Amino acid sequence: MDPSGARALLDLQEIDQEILRIERRLEKIKQERDQLRGEIASLREKVETLKERYEGLLRRSKEISEFIEEEERRLEATERKISMVRKDVEYKALIREKSKHEDNILKKSYELDEVREELRKVEEEFKNFEAKANKKIREIEYELQDLDQEEKVALERIKNLKDLREKVKNRVDQEILKLYEDTKDKLDAKLLVRVEDGICSGCGMKVPDMLFSNLIKENSIDRCPSCGRYIYYKL
Ligand SMILES: [Zn+2]
Repeated sequence: MDPSGARALLDLQEIDQEILRIERRLEKIKQERDQLRGEIASLREKVETLKERYEGLLRRSKEISEFIEEEERRLEATERKISMVRKDVEYKALIREKSKHEDNILKKSYELDEVREELRKVEEEFKNFEAKANKKIREIEYELQDLDQEEKVALERIKNLKDLREKVKNRVDQEILKLYEDTKDKLDAKLLVRVEDGICSGCGMKVPDMLFSNLIKENSIDRCPSCGRYIYYKL
């Protein structure tokens, strides 16, 4: 590999590494977005559950109130009958009936108090949580907007890099280019790497001293004995 071809390959690698970096970020953006959407869904579900509980209690309290009202009407009707009745046996039956209605009203009044107490608690819990959840959802929606914007910019950047890549690619020797494309995924777009402090920056292994001093002396390009990448010291 001659130095000018090597520089073209380095340019190509740099472009591809940036494309890879952006693609990984895009993947991460997708995951983050899914997670945020999941958070919103779970917040909405919790709000809905509390709302259903609240509405259930509201219905229950209405039902009991209506039952009590109905019993009060029956009680009044019974009382009217009592005031008009003549026969003793009828009178006793009506008194039993009156007492039954009074019992019902009393029992249901206790139940109504309990349901209303529960309703107050759940209503407070529901309203508080709903307000908090809505605030959190708005924040998450802003985060999602930021992610969308970041994604848009990243996709545009990748498009530009790919256009640039087409031009740079033509400057790379055909054979090297083929080798580079074939090994790109495995070698993380690093077929040609610098040796720094005697270490191959592709695989992190130490290059034999002899080889390293040759690279320095002759400004040459060789292969790393550990990973097989092309290595240089200076181009
Ligand atoms: Zn290596």
